[in-house]
Amino acid sequence: MSIASSDENNADDMTASLVAQIAADSPLSLARYIEIALSTADAGYYQSSDPFGQKGDFITAPEISGLFGEMCGLFLAHMFELGQAAEETASGRQKPAIIECGPGRGTLMADMRHVWEQLMPELVACPVHLIETSPHLRSLQEQALPDAVIHWHDDLSALPAAPLYGIANEFFDALPVAHAICRTGIWRHRLVTTTPGLGFVEGSPLTAAELDIWRLDKDSSGPSQESHDMATPPDGAIAEICTLGEDIMHSLAAHIARFGGAILIIDYGKTDNRGDTVQAVAAHKPVDLFYKPGQADISHWVDFGALAACANAAGARLIGPVEQGSFLTQIGLKARAEQAAAHADSEMRRALLAAYDRLVSPAQMGSAFKVALLVPQGNGTPPGFVTHNAKTESSNRQSR
Ligand code: SAH
Repeated sequence: MSIASSDENNADDMTASLVAQIAADSPLSLARYIEIALSTADAGYYQSSDPFGQKGDFITAPEISGLFGEMCGLFLAHMFELGQAAEETASGRQKPAIIECGPGRGTLMADMRHVWEQLMPELVACPVHLIETSPHLRSLQEQALPDAVIHWHDDLSALPAAPLYGIANEFFDALPVAHAICRTGIWRHRLVTTTPGLGFVEGSPLTAAELDIWRLDKDSSGPSQESHDMATPPDGAIAEICTLGEDIMHSLAAHIARFGGAILIIDYGKTDNRGDTVQAVAAHKPVDLFYKPGQADISHWVDFGALAACANAAGARLIGPVEQGSFLTQIGLKARAEQAAAHADSEMRRALLAAYDRLVSPAQMGSAFKVALLVPQGNGTPPGFVTHNAKTESSNRQSR
């Protein structure tokens, strides 16, 4: 069934179409509902609109300040330098490629390339592979990167056989996520149905294989043991899985394991799959998940634990996650902001300090947003990823 429409009644059309589809067929998984709302050709949220910035629905770190992209570019230049030393000794020098998953307006890649122009011209000369399904955003990316050799991809099936250096900022959170809900000790699929409007319904129990895939097998012991099993989740507990995100991480990790490279993954997230983290936002305000499908951003908190498991299974390593505030501080954002402020007028200085605060302050993006790094297997912790415990351990060692 086609749910495409190009006029401004898209949301009503999409709701009507979803209702008809569910009535004719069966309830949808939440992931399928999100996929339709975000990605339907012409009418999906990312397909026809530019949701970023003050006038859009949400603002991302690269849209807050160029400092964010500069620091990420600096970090990747450092990883490239380290990687080259390793690759030279291993298999000879292979020309690397640059990757960005979900580049939005292309601002982050433009800012990173700006730093590379000064510091690492070799990276500016590399082809840029952008994973992007929205034709509208592809055209904005083309405008933002006039000097780059760009290859757009819908998915990861045709990446070049080369070391990959790059980034995915607020990409994994935008991928469809499914829900399971626990009732009297039994995990069931949580589906979208008509009530008669759109709403949730509880579906069939997860099979043993599904419990394993959702990593719910340890605590779904069933009603008979409920009162004895401390691990049994409370009634109505929710678990999430982002299968597309896990598949994408698996492909990226297999590629990095084979060819080398380093990819920063930045998103709001945590390290487990518990709780309902799905949120819908329109014009910077939270809205109901079923309000005007296609007109609101729908995202979830990324499960970095699941991504790390995928990276491991594919023979690579996911370092972190650490909090964004900690990462940016460790790699020198403060000094860079102060340096920029020293050359700015007072208005610009205020804007730089406000941007700095927004990126690192725990009350803003600093704690909720996490940073992880996908690299080949190995040891060592690159700058930015030293955790408090590791710092304490190393200072304890030094003081002995
Ligand atoms: N990284 C940007 C934009 C984040 S929004 C920034 O920080 O500003 C999410 C981005 O992922 C958008 O570019 C969106 O079109 C893209 N996207 C969403 N789902 C996708 C999918 N399944 N495959 C490829 N790109 C997708």
